Amino acid sequence: RRWGWSIAGELRQAAARDPDRVAVIDDQGNELTYAQLLDRCVGLARALRAGMGVQSGDRIGVLCRNHPGLIETLVATTLLGADAVLVNTGLSPAQLTTVAGEQRLRVLVHDDEFTERTLGLPAELQRLDERAREELIRTALPGDLPPPERDGRTIVLTSGTTGVPKGARRPIPTGFGPLVSIIDRIPLHARDRVMIAAPVFHTWGYAALQVCFALRATIVLHRRFDPAATLDALVEQRCRGLFAVPVMLQRMLELPAPDPRPPLKVVAVSGSALPGGLPAAFMGAYGDVLYNMYGSTEASWASIATPADLRTAPTTAGRPPYGTRLAILDDAGEPVPSGRVGRIFVGNEMLFEGYTSGADRERHDGLLNTGDLGRLNADGLLFVDGRADDMIVSGGENVFPAEVEQLLAQLPQVREAAVIGVADAEYGQRLAAFLALRPGETLDADAVREYVRHYLARFSVPRDVVFVNYLPRNATGKVLTRELRRHLG
Ligand code: ATP
Repeated sequence: RRWGWSIAGELRQAAARDPDRVAVIDDQGNELTYAQLLDRCVGLARALRAGMGVQSGDRIGVLCRNHPGLIETLVATTLLGADAVLVNTGLSPAQLTTVAGEQRLRVLVHDDEFTERTLGLPAELQRLDERAREELIRTALPGDLPPPERDGRTIVLTSGTTGVPKGARRPIPTGFGPLVSIIDRIPLHARDRVMIAAPVFHTWGYAALQVCFALRATIVLHRRFDPAATLDALVEQRCRGLFAVPVMLQRMLELPAPDPRPPLKVVAVSGSALPGGLPAAFMGAYGDVLYNMYGSTEASWASIATPADLRTAPTTAGRPPYGTRLAILDDAGEPVPSGRVGRIFVGNEMLFEGYTSGADRERHDGLLNTGDLGRLNADGLLFVDGRADDMIVSGGENVFPAEVEQLLAQLPQVREAAVIGVADAEYGQRLAAFLALRPGETLDADAVREYVRHYLARFSVPRDVVFVNYLPRNATGKVLTRELRRHLG
């Protein structure tokens, strides 16, 4: 057997080609070269096998923020032919217990800050905190490992915005196609310095890690996102690339742009819809560097909007990249004409291989149903209207929350806005808008309704308008609508 393209295989190839290049820099400024990083991963793998009995085919949970320890655990697991389950750091103790059971975890490797959350887990699940992991690496026997009998996989959990997170089995790339599909549109170069601010446990941050390994990039990781610290690091580390989620850019824009500016060429965002005003504001401050990637845990990346696309159409998700097919289908599986809304289907080499529960998603002619609704314009640009499940049917009319949110966010007093559907005896559903205002601003509910009425149809006007201090979000910036509902009593 040879080393394949699993995340472990990718790190091996990077370490063989560029051993002395700095692979990763943490928020304390500690650096590891590619050779050192691989050594630590191999050491940890040997210790996990010898000390904890981890074998090929086992599942190891990884509950870590963005730091080198996450990468080491992920790679060590797959070096052994075991599967790494990336766990969302936002899970409650109860959700963590459910996920650990459903994913049949043997070991949970976690950051110290999560120790308390692990206390309710079953006793037979072995746990490894940061000190214990460091001790394993320090005392590991020297020597390399042969390729395992099976390739270790990475299992990425969905965000769980609609319920308990589902485990999605990510395929192991068999060639360059997925990498080409990114660098075909995003001008990242081999050996760039790149900050991954998006959480690596999420499909977007994980994809960024794979791309960085393939390019032998120097990766800058901070445990938590802090806009000021991120801007400082981008300047100090001379980063050419940043992988983030849209809300992070919003937070960065609330601060003055550093002088001199960071040498950014690529700021790629994904994970949730890009607010309409963001591209112009961000590119005004940082130059034509913004790329909007649309995708999901199940479909991986489906389309990419370049700075030029975003200049002409600020809310577009762009076009499918190399090797990707995109289709907008109606309920019968027939393509809908351009301009009309339909279900977004995607085909590429990176479609997930099913959920760990054994369930799958609807597939049609090799294309996967993303669960989102959207449309293509006459130029072939994609616009994502949102999840089919989020669509509000009010008085028989379809309303996309995103359209109303985009409009509300353009009010100068509004910092961020969310819209949901609530049950209504008369209309089936009515709209409720949640607004977080900028500091010192005021606004009244009637003025908000009047404003929406001016631009949109009557059925798109929110009946409830609720002012909140901030919108509750998960780690990838998605608004937690379940928490918003509590405000309605
Ligand atoms: P769960 O299924 O557990 O609720 P989730 O679907 O929220 O999780 P993800 O895979 O992280 O988990 O989210 C993918 C979804 O995020 C897409 O289907 C789409 O609705 C939205 N999304 C991602 N990127 C973009 C983008 N660039 N523009 C618009 N929407 C996006």
